Amino acid sequence: MSAEEKSAEVKNALITGGSRGIGAACALSLAKAGFNIAISYLGSDGKAEAVVQSCRKIGVEAIAVQADISSEEDCLKLVKQVREELGSIYLLVNNAGITRDGLAMRMKTEQFTDVITANLNGTFIMSREVLTDMVKSRGGRIINMASVAGIYGNAGQANYAASKAGVIGLTRSLAKEVGSRGITVNAIAPGFIETDMTDVLPDKVKEAALKKIVLKRFGKVDDIAAAAVFLASAEAAYITGQVLEISGGLSL
Ligand code: NAP
Repeated sequence: MSAEEKSAEVKNALITGGSRGIGAACALSLAKAGFNIAISYLGSDGKAEAVVQSCRKIGVEAIAVQADISSEEDCLKLVKQVREELGSIYLLVNNAGITRDGLAMRMKTEQFTDVITANLNGTFIMSREVLTDMVKSRGGRIINMASVAGIYGNAGQANYAASKAGVIGLTRSLAKEVGSRGITVNAIAPGFIETDMTDVLPDKVKEAALKKIVLKRFGKVDDIAAAAVFLASAEAAYITGQVLEISGGLSL
């Protein structure tokens, strides 16, 4: 069976940064929802392979591709490989992201641009590349992982907040550009979710965050994955250009 015939049966989802944390949870939940899964990762070969095996056990096709989201060349190779192995891409979850925290006054220009390049340029390049499939098939979904930092700002995260604010502007602009083709583009803005990214934060930062969270707990990766599954579903077909904050009420 050709890749095109396969993709006509089951929809293909590409989740960047799917080896760990929120991306891995999205991959598993989307596999349970019936999507074939492609994940990308930077260096965690073993973890990426474990996610692939778990998806296959669920009964869908799954592949992992090593690709640095900061590199345009890698992004192009990633999309090409997914198309060759699974077929056209119906759903893109732009999840891969990094932090390089520090106060702006002491932040090196490179520290700023590295985060913008990974989080914002990566999201733009990946979206542009998959849109050809989506426009051709007159349907598709893009879900961008933003952050509450991109809405409200966060001291010590000028680079990260700027990148995520950019992701939100990109989400709304793309939604307007491709809505007439039946493609939706939305963002999820997680609050404080328990992953490797937040594990490294000092206890006093964690305690201060917890005080602001109305639901009095940190978020779980599955809290985010459930929203991704919804935004990818037929039921969410009339939702586009939106930013869904999932933060346990952090901003109230
Ligand atoms: P994480 O646990 O640090 O995992 C990051 C994932 O991205 C990994 O799969 C990693 O691959 C991949 N990655 C990192 N740099 C990459 C690069 N240059 N190229 C390709 N892949 C790369 O992060 P997370 O907490 O799950 O966060 C996922 C997304 O949610 C990010 O966009 C983050 O900004 C956003 N977010 C998270 C929180 C939170 O509280 N955790 C809150 C708001 C927003 P390897 O495993 O190979 O390194």
